[in-house]
Amino acid sequence: MSELFALFGGTFDPIHYGHLRPVEALAQQVGLKQVTLLPNNVPPHRPQPQASAAQRVAMLQCAIADRPLFDIDTRELARPTPSWTVDTLEALRAERGAQQPLGFIIGQDSLLTLHKWHRWQDLLTLCHLLVCQRPGYATQLETPAQQQWLNDHLAQNTQQLHHSPAGHIWLADTPLLDISATEIRQRRHHGQSCADLLPDAVIDYIDRAGLYRD
Ligand code: ATP
Repeated sequence: MSELFALFGGTFDPIHYGHLRPVEALAQQVGLKQVTLLPNNVPPHRPQPQASAAQRVAMLQCAIADRPLFDIDTRELARPTPSWTVDTLEALRAERGAQQPLGFIIGQDSLLTLHKWHRWQDLLTLCHLLVCQRPGYATQLETPAQQQWLNDHLAQNTQQLHHSPAGHIWLADTPLLDISATEIRQRRHHGQSCADLLPDAVIDYIDRAGLYRD
């Protein structure tokens, strides 16, 4: 069976250490050699990213220049309309074959709202879910039925993620970083420092591009 292929979707407006550090810890724990960042288009009815798609990709490139664990897949940005995660996973499944172990990385906040995702019940037929902890969010799902669904799919060990194509949930033991892109944008707007919240190379890019001032 080929190596577990892991994707990490996000708006990344901008990418920050709350994305990078938990995923680096997860990669070490699970034994991921590569993590592919998947920047999203945002549906028109939701608040749009402040940075353009090209700027968000440029910030990802700055962030990963000295982090060989990561690469970038811009397929969702190349499409004119926002993509559902489930559609992207179906495309990857078709490209890589039925036996390829696929992992989709999310934070705890995303796990809590997963039942609102388009065709969420199909996600585990396509991938494993690899969940990073995030401070400030409940560790229990909202309803007993959702919690039961989670318990039913929990992986017992990391080998299960490598030896099956999809279907398990791994709750990773990752560092808690109380950082959000929203906070970074707000700090920039108020002229406050964001040192230690995101890589210097990304801060330099934000400065040069004049992002998040308004
Ligand atoms: P915003 O504040 O603009 O909503 P964000 O900081 O939550 O953005 P996203 O790009 O929306 O970042 O998140 C992409 C993924 O990263 C999501 O699955 C989210 O759960 C996860 N994530 C974001 N920040 C953290 C964090 N501090 N710890 C763990 N996971 C995180």
